Amino acid sequence: MTSLNEAWFQRALRVLPGGVDSPVRSFRSVGGTPYTVARGSGAYVEDVDGARYLDFVQSYGASLLGHAHPDVVHALREAAGEGTTFGAPTPGEVLLAEAMVARVAGLEQVRLVSSGTEALMSAVRLARGHTGRDKIVKFDGCYHGHSDALLVAGGSGVAQLGLPGSAGVTKGAVGDTVVAPYNEVPTLDVDVAAVLVEPVAANMNLVAPTSGFLKGLRAECSRVGALLIFDEVITGFRLAFAGAQEYFDVTPDLWCFGKVIGGGLPVGAFGGTRAMMSSLAPLGPVYQAGTLSGNPLATAAGTTVLNLVTPRDYADLTERVATFATNLEGAITAGGLYGRCPTEGPLMGLFLSREPLEAPTNFVEAKALCENGLYRSFFHAMLERGVALAPGAYEILFVSLAHSADDLASTVEKAVEAVQVAAKS
Ligand SMILES: *Cc1c(COP(=O)(O)O)cnc(C)c1O
Repeated sequence: MTSLNEAWFQRALRVLPGGVDSPVRSFRSVGGTPYTVARGSGAYVEDVDGARYLDFVQSYGASLLGHAHPDVVHALREAAGEGTTFGAPTPGEVLLAEAMVARVAGLEQVRLVSSGTEALMSAVRLARGHTGRDKIVKFDGCYHGHSDALLVAGGSGVAQLGLPGSAGVTKGAVGDTVVAPYNEVPTLDVDVAAVLVEPVAANMNLVAPTSGFLKGLRAECSRVGALLIFDEVITGFRLAFAGAQEYFDVTPDLWCFGKVIGGGLPVGAFGGTRAMMSSLAPLGPVYQAGTLSGNPLATAAGTTVLNLVTPRDYADLTERVATFATNLEGAITAGGLYGRCPTEGPLMGLFLSREPLEAPTNFVEAKALCENGLYRSFFHAMLERGVALAPGAYEILFVSLAHSADDLASTVEKAVEAVQVAAKS
């Protein structure tokens, strides 16, 4: 690593724990010094030393159009000039909520918050308040943000750092959280308030739902009166124009969003039917609030993104990613390893192995592959060749609308060499 990256990281280490504000950004699981990003444009980021990388991190999915899209930048400049936060209703909140409600069949109202974590935490409170039940069910390897009740058997950074959960989370906080294996429909009791699921699991690398899983969950929740919560923080408006409800034809009781709907600014949202959302304060007994909720800058960026992308964009991106996945699997074979790049719409995972493999269907299978040690050297070999993947084997590749077919083809070429390096490691 060259000098300015190292210098910034050393300064960061003094004032930020681990040098980062979110553990997934640290290079703990891959080793080495992280590049410090100075700027980004489209599919590329540039670090403080001036090195350019084709970026498959894309803020872990927050950036659908690529970095610094001119329309988003313009909307932000306009909004900033009008004032950035008021503590009073603004048109921007209505516009973003309308854009979301217009897309998703069954979604009638949303409450805007400032992160995905907040959306999930609040949706769980709403589900408990609405049903008068305590228990929630989540799936092994799914990540639903870092609120106490949901920080158990999480994927992403929790898995990357080899943590079972987190210190500081009391037994009481997770005592009503039941963990079940992904892709198996659990038999529920009548004391379950809600079942939370990532419709496509994208925090244990990529694990797609098997046929019947989501429909089975819907039926089982309905049978016992539990609420089905789709955590669409990644799938929401990345998997398909209207998200997972459209893609899988399964309608949950509550939706959680984040990442894409903020257009690169801090936003989350949760929503459902008007009747369900009426349980929230000021209408109902479930309290939820936020000083910066529905922030004018964030809603301006998010609304710009949602209004810009078309169903056609999702179809094109899906096609581009399918080709990329096939070619990358070919590159892995050519480089001397076995690989699987499972896709679901424009979402794509990457598993490397020394033995022939199938795409995993649950966390146990995904973990065995993510922990085989091959990703670390592949990651660094790609980074040296100007391709930035996430610094952890449990993350997926985020291909934005700014990634051209040429960008993806050159990634495939570089991958052959990087796999050869990994194979020798
Ligand atoms: C990123 C993510 C979250 C948490 O969102 P933050 O904005 O990081 O708090 C929740 N659920 C899923 C599926 C995510 O990928």
